[in-house]
Amino acid sequence: MENNFELTQVSNNTVIGSHEAGRSNAGAVILKDFIVAMDCTMWPRTARLFREKLEDQFQLPVKYLFVTHSHGDHVMGLTAFKDITMFSSAQLQESLSRRMQNQWTPEQMEEMKGSGLAPADWIDEVEFIIPPILFHQHMEILNAQQNIEFHHSAGHADDSAWAYFPDEKVLFSGDLIFANMFPYAGDDTCDPEKWMAVLRTWLDMPIDKLVPGHGPVMGLEVVEQTLKLFEQLKKNTKDVIAKNGSSEDIKIPDTVEISDESQWMVKKTLDHWIQFYAKNNKQHV
Ligand SMILES: [Zn+2]
Repeated sequence: MENNFELTQVSNNTVIGSHEAGRSNAGAVILKDFIVAMDCTMWPRTARLFREKLEDQFQLPVKYLFVTHSHGDHVMGLTAFKDITMFSSAQLQESLSRRMQNQWTPEQMEEMKGSGLAPADWIDEVEFIIPPILFHQHMEILNAQQNIEFHHSAGHADDSAWAYFPDEKVLFSGDLIFANMFPYAGDDTCDPEKWMAVLRTWLDMPIDKLVPGHGPVMGLEVVEQTLKLFEQLKKNTKDVIAKNGSSEDIKIPDTVEISDESQWMVKKTLDHWIQFYAKNNKQHV
């Protein structure tokens, strides 16, 4: 494996981190006395490289890890941070427990080793950890007059939360943003209405840089693009429901490119949206 974990400066005191095998972005805010990491990539192996690189480059300890939501590519690496304070939205406790029972039983983890997703010894290191600190709605970390805000919004998943560093106008969106790719919106707990609601609030905030869960750092234009895509997809979904059609009939807006690997995400998204809007038809006219 490539041992070089890539850290890229986003603003004066924020970075985005990624590794070719990490499968999701990580980020960090460098405060005066310590570092707060935002997600850690998918595997204990890549997460450990991320932490070492941060501590080595900035000569400060990583004291907190913010877990944005309970999807595998954001929680399977937590082992590498288990000696420090991890925190997430309160909803994550229930959601992660449910995923452990349904998707990630010891037998299913054993099967994963044959899937080619990652080397078997990487998967052996995975430990599911419920962060010991949980927050409802909102929390802040303050150090030397600099604060970072954390907000639970739901949307992409019911436990989705995001972070904002006002001093440098940087927002860490977790998977509420997939930059330059189709946004996965097919989780059973995905709520497209809550998702669009939080994106609309971001449009009114001073944001210079947005660190997404997947894809490159962008500005507010990525929020506008995502909203536009969702509004069109909602309309197309409701048109199909009105004609008693199925998820296969839903037209995907051509503003987004769909790679071969994301075909399954698109299918799950459309299946979920047709169910969601059929159920919620009266509420969301
Ligand atoms: Zn996700």
